[in-house]
This record gives sequence, structure tokens and C-alpha cells, in this order.
Amino acid sequence: MQVQHVAYKAKKILNTHKHADSWFWDKYSAHPYIGCEHGCEYCYSREKKYSRYENPNDFSKIIKIKENAPELLRKKLAKVPKDIIIVGDYQPVEEKTELSRKMLQVCLDYKFPVSLLEKSPLILRDIDLIEQINTQSWASVTFSIITTKDDKTKNLFEPKTPSTSSRFSAIKKFSNKGILAGVAFMPILPFIYDDDDNLEAVVKATAEHGGKFVLAGGLTLASTQKEHYMKLLAEHFPELIPKYQRLYGDNYGPECSYSGELGKKVSRLCKKYGLMDRMPRYVPNGPLAINKQVSEKLQNKLYRMELDCTSQYKIWAYRKAAWTLEELTESVSEIYAQKGRNGLESLKDVGKSLATEIEFVLKEISKNGEHML
Ligand code: SF4
Repeated sequence: MQVQHVAYKAKKILNTHKHADSWFWDKYSAHPYIGCEHGCEYCYSREKKYSRYENPNDFSKIIKIKENAPELLRKKLAKVPKDIIIVGDYQPVEEKTELSRKMLQVCLDYKFPVSLLEKSPLILRDIDLIEQINTQSWASVTFSIITTKDDKTKNLFEPKTPSTSSRFSAIKKFSNKGILAGVAFMPILPFIYDDDDNLEAVVKATAEHGGKFVLAGGLTLASTQKEHYMKLLAEHFPELIPKYQRLYGDNYGPECSYSGELGKKVSRLCKKYGLMDRMPRYVPNGPLAINKQVSEKLQNKLYRMELDCTSQYKIWAYRKAAWTLEELTESVSEIYAQKGRNGLESLKDVGKSLATEIEFVLKEISKNGEHML
């Protein structure tokens, strides 16, 4: 079936997340298309919960184009507080519509920092605008890359994506312009791309191309997306079916001992090649900047706790405390300066031990000269 492009006037363009994302730190997202022609076989968009198509597999065959996306975005950004936005989509149709470029122009006009997550070097067409946004506030470009291995296997899982080498070259070009660039090493396909050689090759190539971070994430499998992926696996890697059954059972994600170890391996490799395993957060100056800085540190810590398979109860305690800081309308360092640890303990979802942790983080930030207490 040929890919169909269906243009329409959208009613909504801007998604505002309840809490800033802890991978890319975006508070907003805005995309000009529904569906994705790249058609990655593992894509979670095939999952019924996320799909806007009756047949979830149509998401790569019928691409809906929000032709009024830039105008809608202009109206919305005029009214919302400035924060990081994930914007655009550089799948093939973008070459013709240039909607992502126009949306970037809106972000530049309204001085919004942007985070871009892409698989296509077509984004290089707009490097001029991204550079201007980076000079004005901040821009970051993350390329999704799951292997450096031969394109034959890559093409099986990502049939219509540009080559891995073209994505690495794009990282180099952004990095040479002083734009923060890195890799989303997601999803690391179990028993296919999780071997030590592939892990090291992706991290090493990121460093060699001027990338600054690698974010590691595993494969989730659910409903229609699981059926689709397992069908492909049965056809090309039948020997892996029992291994997947053991690893996933009826669960959405692999068992923690597996994903934690995978994340730790990538973290160790990042250290070896001088990279970060988390994306540094852009926090503009202002009286509440410290709240976001402390929240970032708590969320980074809870990432490590996840890798260590710490109890979900403890992880959620950190997450909720981080969210409290995100939403706080007073400076946490002011509260601490005036009321000490008692002031911290009075915050929503912050008990004794988290107050101690926040106190420690505040002192650490102050010691590193990131903020004065
Ligand atoms: S590029 Fe991203 S959104 Fe598009 S199919 Fe692949 S994983 Fe899904």
C-alpha cells in the first residue's frame, strides 16, 4: 500500500505535560503530523492505547497533516509560560510541507527553548533556525539510534529510516555549531542489539561524532504493538521467542534485573567515553530556577534507583517530591534559608528523609557554584 497523505485543519496542536519529562525535560510538545512513515516495527504508536487509527498498523501508511500547525502553535505559545518544547517531525513529507520549519520559526519568535528528537538528517535543513534558537535560549537535538551494525538488520526493524551513519554525521554537524546533541539509544532490542559490542559501538560512535550524552532505554511491548513485533520476530528470529517469553512474561517491560543491568552497562560506557547518561537540563535564570535544578538532581537520582531496582515505593517518593519542586511557587532555597529543614518538611510529599536529601542537594548545588544559598 502506497503511503497516503491527508491534510486537514487541526483543532489542537500543543500538548502541555502535567510534569516536565525526565528524559528530555520538555513541558510541551507539538507535532505537525499524525502517523509516521518511518514505520519502525517496534514503535509504541502501534499500541492500541496510543494509536488514533482503527487498524494501528495504518499509522505508517496514512499520514495526517495538520496543515494549520504553525498558526495554531503561534496562538498557543502567545499565551503559555515559556518552557522547553519538543517540536516538529522530520519524516519524509516534511521535505515538501516544511511545517516543522515553520513551527521552529514560531518557537524562535516567542523565545521558547526547544528539544528535538529525530531519526532523520532532514532536520539539518533547519540548522540555521535551531542555531538561532540556541543562541537566544537553548536547543538540543537527540537522534534515535539503536545500532551501528549492518543496515540489513537495521532495515528490518526500521524499514524506512535514514541510515545510522547519516544520523551520526548529523550529530557532528549540530555539535560543531555548539548545539547540544546526543543519542536516544532506545529501544535496545533484547537479544538483538543488547550485546556488549553493540552497546560499546553506539556509545563510542556518539563520542566520536561530538555527541554529549546517550540515553538508554529498553523495549516495551503491549497489545497490538506486541503482536506486531512478535510476528516479525517469529519470522526472522524464531529462536528468540522463548527468550522473550521468559523476559517479558505478561508484562509491559522486561524484568528489572535485565533492564537495570543494561542501563548500568551504558552508564559505565558513557563514563569511559566521557559522555553523560542523562541529558543536562536547561534552566533559565530566575527566582525559581533552583527548584528545577533540585528537581533535576532528584530525578537523576531516581533514575539510578531504577537501575538498582530499588523499591517502587521509594522511587515514587522521590518522583512526587521532584514534582512538588517543579510546581512550587516560592524558591526552595528561600524556604530553606528562612525555615531550615522544617520548612522543607512542610512541603507536599516531602517527609523527613526527602527533606534531608533536598538539603543535601541544595548544599551540593551551592558548593558547585550553581546557586547561592
Ligand atoms: S521514527 Fe519514531 S515515531 Fe516514527 S515509526 Fe519510528 S519510532 Fe515510531
